[in-house]
Amino acid sequence: MNGHTNPRTAALLSVSDVHVAYGKVEAVRAVSLDVADNEIVTIVGANGAGKSTLLNAIMGILPLKGTAAFAGQDIAPLDIEDRVAAGLSLVPEHRELFATMNVEDNLQLGAFRIAKSKAAAAFERVYHLFPRLKERRKQLAGTLSGGEQQMLAMGRALMGTPKLLMLDEPSLGLAPIIVADIFRIIGELRANGVSVLLVEQNARAALEIADRAYVMELGEFILSGPAREIAANARVAASYLGFQHEGASGI
Ligand code: ATP
Repeated sequence: MNGHTNPRTAALLSVSDVHVAYGKVEAVRAVSLDVADNEIVTIVGANGAGKSTLLNAIMGILPLKGTAAFAGQDIAPLDIEDRVAAGLSLVPEHRELFATMNVEDNLQLGAFRIAKSKAAAAFERVYHLFPRLKERRKQLAGTLSGGEQQMLAMGRALMGTPKLLMLDEPSLGLAPIIVADIFRIIGELRANGVSVLLVEQNARAALEIADRAYVMELGEFILSGPAREIAANARVAASYLGFQHEGASGI
């Protein structure tokens, strides 16, 4: 496993030999990963593999050992606020919306770091991506459907105009038709110049949309490569796609 970097464009996010521990227990070990501009990268793995832990460490919610650079800047010494200001954003697995505030006010919270003059354009962009949020802008977040809450969590993260959006299990608990919608929007983000680092139990959907993928087991990356190749890998197909892939290649 090597930290593949396109020599023409330095990676937007580049983490190298990263370890994250809960006390004495290392949940992430010696992980290296890159995300380039305009790239969707997915991390596939079973429950408890360490995927959320890695995203949280990149965001600065958990401390990491190793190196982490974003847009050419060493982010290891930065707190969460400064990482957001640098262009990183995380939509956490449990969405963490303010249930008793309406859609617009939740979005407004995501805009507090950007100039007031730019907030209107940010609202415009988010409402364009998620017309449903515009329709429901005065509705309390706690009364939205699961899919709408996921859209709101993504919209709030996008209000800060990140360069890289990290999504932790965006399809969790959602009906298939909503999942398709969320994945379509993830594709639109890439088309709009936002890179995406996607952690997802729905490996099939994630590998379909991603450019590249990493497979995580017990805190380590065991495989990486173009998403199409990872999806065709026999072990990945058997473990994460729920079938023996015809003509699939071994690791
Ligand atoms: P899931 O999809 O279930 O969230 P994951 O791949 O994201 O899985 P993590 O949540 O990162 O996995 O968990 C990695 C390991 O760290 C697991 O063994 C988990 O039990 C452990 N772990 C997670 N959070 C904590 C915590 N707050 N304290 C101690 N151990 C934790």
